[in-house]
Amino acid sequence: LLRAVGVRKHFAGTEVLRGIDLSVHKGQVVCLLGPSGAGKSTFLRCVNHLETIDGGQVWVDGEPIGFRLRGGKLHELREREVARQRRDIGMVFQRFNLFAHHTVLGNIIEGPVRVLGLSASEAKRTALDLLDRVGLAHRADAYPAQLSGGQQQRVAIARALAMKPKLMLFDEPTSALDPELVGEVLEVMTSLAAEGMTMVVVTHEMGFAREVADEVVFMADGAVVETGPPARVLGAPEHERTRQFLARIL
Ligand code: ATP
Ligand code: MG
Repeated sequence: LLRAVGVRKHFAGTEVLRGIDLSVHKGQVVCLLGPSGAGKSTFLRCVNHLETIDGGQVWVDGEPIGFRLRGGKLHELREREVARQRRDIGMVFQRFNLFAHHTVLGNIIEGPVRVLGLSASEAKRTALDLLDRVGLAHRADAYPAQLSGGQQQRVAIARALAMKPKLMLFDEPTSALDPELVGEVLEVMTSLAAEGMTMVVVTHEMGFAREVADEVVFMADGAVVETGPPARVLGAPEHERTRQFLARIL
């Protein structure tokens, strides 16, 4: 479903991604690990074309992101068309990024109504189902500031799901949370994975990676160092760089 081939990115002469290859099959969960500055966030932003890439290509469900394939050639898409591709890719950040002046329900229906063109009542029905899935149906009328960080993050997940994405990207979704709130967010992500959502998750939650990931990808200095099933990469890493990292965070 997601295939990244040789993705390169530099900022002001510094190479931040040095040819990233990554494949994620439909229904798979891939956890991306690595030290600060490895390029994990930049890579996720390249996947949904929030950053333009300097080399390589990203394919989601057979479509080259940011381009159209015609006559065997790639033609760059306009921003409008990229926005259409981006709709299929849900993203959840470390910070919840909810609209403070909208209720929980308002936050979730905004995209479906404005972008997908659903009627308000249709969008509400779906939103309430999603809120139920993340255990927050009873807080539909609350404002973000009235919720805990864990609840806000669960709303952010429901909001991303409301766009019916094919792929979900998570960038350290629990690292801004108080420790006691981490579990409720991971639980929602675990059930999403069990329902077959395709997910790429940047996380330092090794328990989640071990139990939920189909594959773990360890990145350092803008490159993939090693990839494999969690038991192997976390339990018996082949590279010294991976061992050092794991020793520090476990
Ligand atoms: P962390 O674990 O701290 O979130 P990361 O693996 O997500 O790290 P990135 O945020 O992708 O790392 O950053 C990779 C490198 O790219 C860093 O050296 C960072 O300073 C640089 N970088 C990221 N975004 C920009 C930008 N917009 N302009 C310039 N440099 C950037
Ligand atoms: Mg990051």
